[in-house]
Amino acid sequence: AHLINQIAAGEVVERPASVVKELLENALDAGATRIEVDIEQGGGKRIRIRDNGCGIPKTELALALSRHATSKIASLDDLEQVRSLGFRGEALPSIASVSRLILSSRHQDADQGWQLYGDGQEVFGEPEPVAHTNGTTIDVTDLFFNTPARRKFLKTEKTEFGHIEDMLRKIALSRFDVGFELNHNQKNTLRLRPTDDRSGAERRIADICGSAFAEQSLYLDYEAAGLRLWGWVGLPTFSRSQADLQHFYVNGRNVRDRLITHAVKQAYQDVMYHGRHPAFVLFLELNPQLVDVNAHPTKQEVRFREGRLVHDFLFRTLHQALADIRP
Ligand code: ADP
Ligand code: MG
Repeated sequence: AHLINQIAAGEVVERPASVVKELLENALDAGATRIEVDIEQGGGKRIRIRDNGCGIPKTELALALSRHATSKIASLDDLEQVRSLGFRGEALPSIASVSRLILSSRHQDADQGWQLYGDGQEVFGEPEPVAHTNGTTIDVTDLFFNTPARRKFLKTEKTEFGHIEDMLRKIALSRFDVGFELNHNQKNTLRLRPTDDRSGAERRIADICGSAFAEQSLYLDYEAAGLRLWGWVGLPTFSRSQADLQHFYVNGRNVRDRLITHAVKQAYQDVMYHGRHPAFVLFLELNPQLVDVNAHPTKQEVRFREGRLVHDFLFRTLHQALADIRP
């Protein structure tokens, strides 16, 4: 099982940023409203994530680190119902197999916290008591210490931290109601307050996408036939300074999908943005049964059951919104 974990880790854990992604998703699945991320040396030395979510009961700490023991999928049909970000029960065991790890947690119903150590092996000792507020802390050190070939592929501290920042920004855009803090080598690099209104969301948009985009974008919110599209699209006056300002979320999950890219691009080009790269932060919400998010372990791809319908909805909605504001 240990070898299987290490092999699976090759798919799930490519670099420090992928560890951060999985741990952030777990914190969100646990209902956290505040998440703090501490990074040392680009994540190669240390990645520590603290959340105030529901926590893990003492009896489930070891299970959380065991392969598929926690898979939320009982049958294939359930797959269609999954709304949480994680569902494979693969991330923690994979991370534990290629790092030294301390999992500390206090479950919401428990009167104290417990912690468990992992040293890259699959056997864990007994949980020990620890002082901990409600929620979970995962402290991952020495990533890939026992897989030297992979450790060699880590880029500079700066590059790896850049990937972590990008990852956190992408996730922070999907949950305006959650506060995020990011520190690198004990220095704070990002602090995002939780918010539940549009002006708060737009402050976060400015923090993440730049104030130029926040000022020169159009907010839209449109619903039809059980599909909802909302978010911000860059106006023609906005000229993109960030290399990649295209953030698309399907049911809260960040995706890169050809069908979506195509529909958006077509709408832009058709109206006024000839030759420009569209800039947007958009959220598509639909019945989870109409979308399969299981296409790839890193879960960036999606498969729509009715691709045509989704494509047309995106195209028409954006086309209309953009045509309305044409000068
Ligand atoms: P999953 O695909 O279920 O997210 P993971 O390997 O990422 O699998 O996590 C295993 C399990 O550990 C989760 O299903 C969850 O029950 C528990 N868990 C992991 N991280 C947290 C956390 N931050 N708070 C509460 N529970 C957690
Ligand atoms: Mg997970």
